[in-house]
Amino acid sequence: MQPLPNVITLPAELVRQPGNLPAHCSRHGRPAAKRVDFALQSKVPPEPNRALSGNVLSTADRISRRATKVKVTHVKGWPLCRTCQRSRAFWFTLSLVMFFGGLLAFAGSLIVGAFAAKGTVQALAGVAIGGFVIMILSAFPFHRGGLARIVGASTSADGTSVIVVNPSEAFTAELPPR
Ligand SMILES: [Zn+2]
Repeated sequence: MQPLPNVITLPAELVRQPGNLPAHCSRHGRPAAKRVDFALQSKVPPEPNRALSGNVLSTADRISRRATKVKVTHVKGWPLCRTCQRSRAFWFTLSLVMFFGGLLAFAGSLIVGAFAAKGTVQALAGVAIGGFVIMILSAFPFHRGGLARIVGASTSADGTSVIVVNPSEAFTAELPPR
């Protein structure tokens, strides 16, 4: 069994004002090398899939209802340490390499395929499909490098607070007393 995550909540008014957040990052507890402003969304649990009975209208309705449920907090001056910045850069670089590498393999094999002999076309089709799949998969490291994942925070479902999962001790210690 996994231990329950340690969760703290910060009032949304607090994180919306610059200068209220600790000088150490929430993930590693290291000194902040940079402060960032970003929009932090709430997590909306996916609704049960009613694809079988659904039609286009109900799907559109579901998406718009989901959009109204997502609450956003505009976080000001969140501390990021060098390790945070490095892991962010790593995931974004990986995502870019996958996206453009996949694009190159996909487009390249189509271009080469137009001039290729019959026997090689099949192999090129495999490369094209592989490149296309890698392009789609590049969304995962892109998401992993997002600020919400890096700092381990999200907005609460009602939008009144920000939830931080497993914050560092240095971060928690510097929060204003509640
Ligand atoms: Zn950090």
